[in-house]
Amino acid sequence: MGGLGARAALLVALLCPVALVALAPQEPTPVLAQATTPEGRTLLLRLQFRKGLSVEGKALPKAFLAKGAEPAGWIPFELLSPEGKRWALAALFPDDQWRSDEVRHRVRYPEVESVWTLAALFAGHGQNYDRLMTENPDLPEKLREGDRWRIPRSLLSQDLGGQGRGPDRSQPEDGLDDEARVAAYRALLSFSEDSHGRFAVYRLRKGEALYSSVVIRYTDRVDPKGVNELAEQIAARSGIADVRSIQPGQLIRIPLTFLSGPFQPEGSSELAEERVIRAEVRRTARVEGGPKLKGIRIVLDAGHGGVDPGARANGVWESDFVYDISMRVRRILEQDTEAAVSSTIRYPGLGFRTRDEIRIPSRQAEILTTPPFQVDGESPSAVSVHLRWVLANDFFATFRKAKGDAQKTLFLSFHADSLHPSARGSMAYVPGAALVPSTFALGGASAGRVAEGRRSARVAFTSREKLEGEARSRQFSEVLLASLQREGIPVHANRPIRNVILRTGGKWVPAVLRYSTGATKVLVEVANLTNEDDAANLRDPDFRERYAAAVVAAVRAYYRK
Ligand SMILES: [Zn+2]
Repeated sequence: MGGLGARAALLVALLCPVALVALAPQEPTPVLAQATTPEGRTLLLRLQFRKGLSVEGKALPKAFLAKGAEPAGWIPFELLSPEGKRWALAALFPDDQWRSDEVRHRVRYPEVESVWTLAALFAGHGQNYDRLMTENPDLPEKLREGDRWRIPRSLLSQDLGGQGRGPDRSQPEDGLDDEARVAAYRALLSFSEDSHGRFAVYRLRKGEALYSSVVIRYTDRVDPKGVNELAEQIAARSGIADVRSIQPGQLIRIPLTFLSGPFQPEGSSELAEERVIRAEVRRTARVEGGPKLKGIRIVLDAGHGGVDPGARANGVWESDFVYDISMRVRRILEQDTEAAVSSTIRYPGLGFRTRDEIRIPSRQAEILTTPPFQVDGESPSAVSVHLRWVLANDFFATFRKAKGDAQKTLFLSFHADSLHPSARGSMAYVPGAALVPSTFALGGASAGRVAEGRRSARVAFTSREKLEGEARSRQFSEVLLASLQREGIPVHANRPIRNVILRTGGKWVPAVLRYSTGATKVLVEVANLTNEDDAANLRDPDFRERYAAAVVAAVRAYYRK
C-alpha cells in the first residue's frame, strides 16, 4: 500500500469549469490528486468539502469497485471495494502511517478535511465523528495541517482491516414492509408496571442508541429538542445516570404516555386504530393509470418560500432546495408522462426552471391562486399554507367536474426537516385518519381574497374518506420509499412513514395534508438538514435529479396495478 501512495503525484486545485459552476462561492476548492492503479493507469482522486472523496471511474480496476458499481463518472468512496478504499486512501494521504494497532492520519488539506470526513473515510461513517474526537482529546475540532489523528483498530472500519462498525448498521427489520416492520418493533417490547405507572420495556441491542432506536422509533418525537428531552426522561426512568454510557443489553423503560399508537398495549384504543388502518391498507385496491399516467391529476407543492426559507442547517436551507426538487419532478412528469401536473407555488424570475446552483435564499414566491398570493410576510404565514390546499383542492374539483376520476388525484408536498442529527434520510407523512376533521372552512378574510378561496375553502370528510385517504397515502409512501432506496437514496431508519407529528403543542398533521381532497396525499421530508451527509446530498444537483427521478418512478409504479 505504501508503494502505491508514494507514486501518487498531486494536482492541487486544478478545477474544471464544470466543477466551478456547481460550487457555491463559500465552498473551499476541492483537492484533486493523481493516483496510479496497479496496472499503471493514471486517474484522479477528488476530495470535496463535506462531500468527501470520490475517484475517477473510467480506468478503475474492477477489483476496486463494490459489487454492482459502474466504472463511470466519479465513484464515491462508499462504492469502492475494501481494496479500492485502501488504495485510494494511501494515494491521497501518502504520509499516513498504517500500523497494526492504529492508523496515524496526518492532516494534509485542512480546508477540505473535517473530523466528519475523516470519520467517513476511516471509521465507516461520518456519524462516528464524536468517537473519533474522543480518541483524540488533545486535537482541536478545526483541523490544522500536520495534526496527527489516531484511528485505533477498534474504530477503523472493517473494510480497512479494523473492527469498527458504523452506527448505521442495518437492523434485522430493515428489509420488511412497513406493517411487518412496525409489528417486529412491537414484538421487541414487553409491558410492566411499578409505583410510577405502566411502561414498555425495551432491551437495547448492539449498535443501538437511545435517541434513534428508542425515542425516534417508539415515540412520535423527532425534533432535536424533543428527542433530547425525552431521552433524558426515559434514561432517568430507566435508572441510567449517564446517557452516553449505555451498553447493549440495557433495559429501557418507556412510559406508556410517550409510546406512539402502534406500540400501545393490547386493549388500548390507539392499537385498535392502528389495526383498523392496517386492515384498510391491505383491503384498498390500487388504482390503475394508463402506461403514461394518462388521466392522473397531480398537484406538486414545495414547502416554504418567499420570506420563509424554512429549516436551515449545514449551509443549506429548505425552501429553494425542495422547490428545485419539485421543479425537477414537474419537468420529468411533463416530459415523460401524460399526467396533468400543476404546482401550488412559483418563484418569480425563476419560474418553473430547475437550477444546478443555488447560492442564496430566493426572496420572492407566490402561491398560484387567482390573483397570485405573494408570500411576502404581509399576511400571517398560516395564510400561505392554507392557500396551498385550497388551490390544490380547487384543481381537483375542476378535474372531477370534467369527468376526471376522483381516485386518480395525487397531492405531493416537498419539505426537508431539521431532526435530531442521528436521524438521516427521507420520511413520508400521511394524514392520520383520527386527526382529519369532519368539516373545516377557512375563515373569510384569507379565503375571500382569491377566486379559489371563494370556491374551495370548505372541506368535509366522511369516516370512510378519512380512512381511505390514510390508506392510499400509506400505499403511495411505501412505493415511494422503495423507489428511493432502489436509487441508493437514504431513507429514515426508524418508521419512515408517519401519520402524526408530536410537538410541545400536541399531536398534529400538516394542514396541506389534513384538508387535502386528493385521494392520495403525502408530505415528503426529503432529507434531515442537521445531518451533514443529508445536507451535502441536498446541495448536489445530481442528487436532486436522482431524487426527482425516483419520485416519478414511484408515481408510475403506484398507478400500475
Ligand atoms: Zn418544511
